[in-house]
Amino acid sequence: FLKEHNARHLWHPMGHPGESQAHPPKIITDAAGVTITDIDGHSTIDAVGGLWCVNLGYSNDAIKQAISDQLARLPYYSAFAGTSNPAAIEASQMVCDLFAEDGMARAFFTSGGSDSVDVALRLARQYHRLRGEPTRTKFLSLKKGYHGTHFGGASVNGNPRFRHGYEPLLPGCVHLPAPYTYRNPFHESDPARLAQLIAQAAEDEIAFQGADTIAALIMEPILGAGGVIVPDESFMPLMREICDRHGILLISDEVITGFGRSGDWSGARHWGVAPDMMTVAKGITSGYFPVGAALVSGAVAEVFEGADANGAIYTGYTYSAHPVGAAAVVATLTETLRLDLRENAAARGRQLFEGCQRLAETHAIVGDVRGGHGLMTALELVSDRATKAPADPATVKRVHQAAYEAGAMVRMGPPNLMMSPPLTISEAEIDTVLSALDAGLSAA
Ligand code: PMP
Repeated sequence: FLKEHNARHLWHPMGHPGESQAHPPKIITDAAGVTITDIDGHSTIDAVGGLWCVNLGYSNDAIKQAISDQLARLPYYSAFAGTSNPAAIEASQMVCDLFAEDGMARAFFTSGGSDSVDVALRLARQYHRLRGEPTRTKFLSLKKGYHGTHFGGASVNGNPRFRHGYEPLLPGCVHLPAPYTYRNPFHESDPARLAQLIAQAAEDEIAFQGADTIAALIMEPILGAGGVIVPDESFMPLMREICDRHGILLISDEVITGFGRSGDWSGARHWGVAPDMMTVAKGITSGYFPVGAALVSGAVAEVFEGADANGAIYTGYTYSAHPVGAAAVVATLTETLRLDLRENAAARGRQLFEGCQRLAETHAIVGDVRGGHGLMTALELVSDRATKAPADPATVKRVHQAAYEAGAMVRMGPPNLMMSPPLTISEAEIDTVLSALDAGLSAA
């Protein structure tokens, strides 16, 4: 019954509506710890962590209890102009404390990552207007970057697939080359030299566009959905320098990398960079409630707070700082800190990355292995290692399905397979993921 009705009424993001008839989705009915169970009773390790979000696994009683207590006490009153609630106040303090080292001082809550990106882009334009630079309206981003699918996020998304069919989008968005060493237009295989080449391309583009037309550069410190692209350590500092030189704000999109997934509390911290704004979501509630936030530095906040009525922020959501979501944030961050998940993410991330490198030695279909910073790892599959011709989507699908049957749900983004399990995962469970991947690759 459920399988039939899924195709009848339910449309799935990022897929063709007809597809769910031809290829029925996996209907997940139960979850515990790091394991999910589908409607046919098949259990696997969730090596995707929901959608890179279930950092604490599925059995965290503290979060469930906090949500239930808040529902009983105050199920709704958000932080729109003129109202607030205790859970939101506590959540904002915890988030700003966690990211104080990154320079973050204020939190603007949203319902997810795309919302947070949209808010950050709007605030960037408004910041420049308030400072008397109204011509700064354009945005720079990276090819392969993913920033959600609202019109703002879609406009800065690097992958044209998310833009095509929805134009016209925001005008003046420029997509710079990604720090993708395996494939790049410069044919440069040295990551540090590639970082220099992209920095030069950014300078050229800024000169061409006019520095005083650009509001912000938005980038992921480690690119997630684009295939876990880890830049050279010099890359983000170079982008920071360029932004500083030209008065451009730097927005670090930490929707995936934040809250320990990258092996530190933020991704930018790996590269010693303090951004002007950060966007967060996913791990902020471990997927237990839809919450995101745009965070701003003290210097950016001052411009708004010192302004007249023009400093008012005319964007936000009915569910901005929803008390139940905020209670989920407080409980999630308390648990994340108590368990010091950053440490486990770093250690288990190394194990997963090294295990994947070993798989590449025995499976010629693996062209590139990326990761090494926390629990974000990708295998890029090829049909020919020498030419790097990408594996066809049907092959990637076959590997994905065989790995699922052998005990691990991984994420498919042909030609990549991506792994981002809960940060609570154990050493033995990572071994299970690796043997399931081994089985999946053998099936190809
Ligand atoms: N930014 C990044 C870096 C993301 O990875 C995502 C989601 N994968 C988003 C933004 C959008 O978040 P959401 O799906 O919660 O809208």
